Amino acid sequence: MTVSFDLSPEQEQLKHGSRQFAEAHLRDLADAVRAEPDPLRRALLARPAFEKAVEAGFLKGFIPVPFGGAAGNGVDAAILIEEWAAHSPDFVISMAGPLIALAPVYEAGTPEQIARFVAPFLAERGAPVAAMAYSEPGGSANFDAAPPAEGTRTTAVPDGDEYVINGRKAWASHLPGWDGDGPDVMTIVCRAPGGVSLVVAEREHLAGHIEVEEYYDLPGLAGCMTARVRLVDVRVPKANLLGEEGQGVALTRNAFVGSGASIGTFAVAAMRQAFDIAFRFARTEKRGGDVAIIEHRAVSDVLADAKGRIEAVRLLSWRALDAALSQHPAGLEMALHAKIFGSETGVEVINDLIKLVGVEAYDRNFPILRHLHEALAYPVIEGSNIGVRRRQLHDLFRTGGYDPLSASGMA
Ligand SMILES: Cc1cc2nc3c(=O)[nH]c(=O)nc-3n(C[C@H](O)[C@H](O)[C@H](O)COP(=O)(O)OP(=O)(O)OC[C@H]3O[C@@H](n4cnc5c(N)ncnc54)[C@H](O)[C@@H]3O)c2cc1C
Repeated sequence: MTVSFDLSPEQEQLKHGSRQFAEAHLRDLADAVRAEPDPLRRALLARPAFEKAVEAGFLKGFIPVPFGGAAGNGVDAAILIEEWAAHSPDFVISMAGPLIALAPVYEAGTPEQIARFVAPFLAERGAPVAAMAYSEPGGSANFDAAPPAEGTRTTAVPDGDEYVINGRKAWASHLPGWDGDGPDVMTIVCRAPGGVSLVVAEREHLAGHIEVEEYYDLPGLAGCMTARVRLVDVRVPKANLLGEEGQGVALTRNAFVGSGASIGTFAVAAMRQAFDIAFRFARTEKRGGDVAIIEHRAVSDVLADAKGRIEAVRLLSWRALDAALSQHPAGLEMALHAKIFGSETGVEVINDLIKLVGVEAYDRNFPILRHLHEALAYPVIEGSNIGVRRRQLHDLFRTGGYDPLSASGMA
């Protein structure tokens, strides 16, 4: 990341290309998603834009270069995510599945596993999807808890050269895949004899073994395919275990570092859109008075505070994504700040901007409330701030030798 904070010519190009794609394909998609009441039909609406994004090479942009992809640095990721999430954060979440599901493959996979599990996402057409199957009905904040606590309930029972996986999973994007027969790759957090482990199931193992119990009807991010499913006798070769049995807790936590950092950028995208709406309202609306309401100092103060906080979260998220994706030692701490501070700031800022607009904002057809619905998701997805993320910060602060200046490079 350049210390000057100027975007390079390539990053300027990425920003314009991503914005053009979003305006051409994601704006209309977001309108169509809002108009469709059925959660499954809503999620399927994304497929044509997904295919266009694959053809344009964007999916490869989620795969690091050493594994055959074309991912840039963390700031590049932030630029793309902000431009797309400004129109359709649900689309980004759908497409970014490999960011989480393949992270443990890169970390612990053998060269053969990496080549096989990454291959579908290097395709130049189609709509390959990946799911990180961590969350379970009944809660996952304590997925590492040992018996007699439930911890991770999904089991992987050895049978010859295979594991037989049974259990219920929830929330993760694309658990059923486009057609109910599963995503191209599902990284399953499960309990094997050696402890919590990660086993990768491919479509050939999943087809016919996924029972969808419910497609969630989300109030925001409504185009995400999120469901509660039952995995029934999913037979996966033991060769699909990542690392060793018992390594799953650390691998799972690491898998969510980069995506946690990205939540700050999702919050920026929602704040930026809400700011734009409130700003235009303040500049043009007199609300029966003799001047535009921006002339009232109290209104301008709301805008000033909001703008400053958006800029702060944007820079924090750039730094966090850069550190997380480059495996910098500060990556975890910066990702946690971007996740927690970014998501909570997002809710506060958009709520303030709604108060600026006043009662008009409370009409479903007025375009600001939808961004609060999106922002409300960010403190609770990617590990809720209370149940997962603040606990991780708590652990970090209690680590022997923790230096408060080191994350900022000022130690
Ligand atoms: C759009 C969307 C996409 C998602 N994508 C994925 C995905 O790709 N993969 C995936 O696996 N999941 C995904 N999720 C689920 C998401 O990551 C959740 O954050 C995750 O299920 C954990 O939920 P939770 O943190 O609320 O934990 P829960 O276990 O449900 O805990 C609930 C609450 O209990 C309290 N709590 C529980 N234990 C403790 C504790 N030890 N200390 C303090 N407080 C505690 C906290 O207040 C916490 O918020 C997604 C969800 C959505 C909506």
